[in-house]
Amino acid sequence: MSIEESLKTRSGNKCELCGSQENLSVYEVAPSDKTVEQSIYICNTCKEQLEDDSKLDPNHWYCLNDSMWSEVDAVKVVAYRLFHKLGDIDNKDMIYLEDDIKQWADQGLVADENKIVHKDSNGVILNAGDTVTIIKDLEVKGAGFTAKRGTAVRNISLAMDDETHIEGRVNGVKIMLKTEFLKKG
Ligand SMILES: [Zn+2]
Repeated sequence: MSIEESLKTRSGNKCELCGSQENLSVYEVAPSDKTVEQSIYICNTCKEQLEDDSKLDPNHWYCLNDSMWSEVDAVKVVAYRLFHKLGDIDNKDMIYLEDDIKQWADQGLVADENKIVHKDSNGVILNAGDTVTIIKDLEVKGAGFTAKRGTAVRNISLAMDDETHIEGRVNGVKIMLKTEFLKKG
């Protein structure tokens, strides 16, 4: 039986977090070995919010008051992490997790805190695809030109291992730029 089939059976074909029966799919609870035990079956509304913290809607997550009592460890782990993100420490502490499961739950929180976030000179978060403006004349070593203050750099990409750098095209040349010399927009 595939993971999806097993999860359908386990969940009774309902979102294991909010009970919705629409747009259900498999969600791996990282870090995972892609097992049934480390996956949950959830709706698209829950999934979107799990994948993007900026979409977290506290009203939607009242459903956790039920699902936190699930018999499925992976569901409890997700509820635990969500309560943490929502700042609901009372409920977070109320979830009973075996030691190894608690370790798994906390791993997710640590991974989240270590996630690299790129910010411009004003502390505004930068995303791949954004347009930024250079706020200071910058000599581009090796390329033999100066990236002028006021130049817009469109469709940037982010340096995966370095939160102080982004990549973008200036004068048709792809260069690395330091975030401290950039302004979003
Ligand atoms: Zn849901």
